[in-house]
Amino acid sequence: MENEIKRLLAAVVHPETGEDIVTSGFIEHIAATPDKATVVLRFAKTRDPFATKIKNQAEALLKERFPQAEILVTIKEGGRPPRPEPKETTTTGGIAHVIAVASGKGGVGKSTVTANLAVALRNMGFRVGILDADIYGPSQPKMFGVEDYLPDAVQEEGQDRIVPAESMDIALMSIGFFIKPTDALLWRGAMAVNALKQMIHQTRWGTLDFLLADLPPGTGDIHLSIIGELKIDSAVIVSTPQQVAVADVLRGVEMFRNPNVNIPVAGVIENMAWFTPEELPDNRYYLFGKGGARKFAEENGVDFLGEIPIVRSIMEGSDEGHPAAAIDPRVEASYRGIAERIVEKVMKSS
Ligand code: ADP
Repeated sequence: MENEIKRLLAAVVHPETGEDIVTSGFIEHIAATPDKATVVLRFAKTRDPFATKIKNQAEALLKERFPQAEILVTIKEGGRPPRPEPKETTTTGGIAHVIAVASGKGGVGKSTVTANLAVALRNMGFRVGILDADIYGPSQPKMFGVEDYLPDAVQEEGQDRIVPAESMDIALMSIGFFIKPTDALLWRGAMAVNALKQMIHQTRWGTLDFLLADLPPGTGDIHLSIIGELKIDSAVIVSTPQQVAVADVLRGVEMFRNPNVNIPVAGVIENMAWFTPEELPDNRYYLFGKGGARKFAEENGVDFLGEIPIVRSIMEGSDEGHPAAAIDPRVEASYRGIAERIVEKVMKSS
């Protein structure tokens, strides 16, 4: 649907330049489900005299084509936030910063956090990629609606390169593109490690400001081999309030701090920190206790990066192929704060 929207919007021409709004880069963001399409148009000028006219044209075209869907076209003015030029610091070419996302256990929302952080970073104007290395449950393809993607191999300067999927302006390479769920057991050993190696060294990422690596849960050999292959600049640990007290989270922190590994831990993110029912938006229910991750961070000398509540749109977004941060402003705001903290820390330490 996103491609179709782009195609439709290519018919809208800016009267001043005579060029269509897609090729001239006015489309900052498109997110679409069968019920709702959101388009953000970015005008370089503040108060572009044609902004409203273009917005109305875009809306009319989309409403005509998708009469069942709610259409939301918004205008942003002024240039995009500046993008720092990526430095070539990793084996993977033009990637400026690699951030690993880890957790003590499965099911705490590590993959969901990775996907939404990627969207928040993208919204800040960065070029972002995701390396889904969670061999036990690669869920990024589903979260970005590209489960059926089959990676192509191309030759570039005499080398084989694998082409990542692209969704919402985010480049995605996942171990899930190479294994079927039923294969999982077989893949857990050396084969998975070999496949990960290839993904790390051969993916054609282009230039990226941030590559987020969604690691398998826990700590183990597979982590050590990823750490050995990929130059990780910083790690974030995701935990739920009830998991934080368990030794696994500390083990995760210690893995990165091990002198042989020596990767700075940017901090801990508390996921599912509280629950707010939709009909009582001001109420917060701390189902699993309050402030656990903050306390853990203080006690173990790591920073606390922020908390994400239990929100229905987060769960639905993952199921429907668009991370909630792309369409729910409240969710975006939670992730934006965390993303800003991570960017600040990573930039400072590089
Ligand atoms: P992990 O990668 O740690 O195994 P997932 O990211 O797959 O965990 O999340 C597990 C489940 O919890 C998924 O169904 C996901 O949609 C849901 N989930 C994660 N975070 C939240 C949240 N903040 N609010 C609601 N549901 C969430």
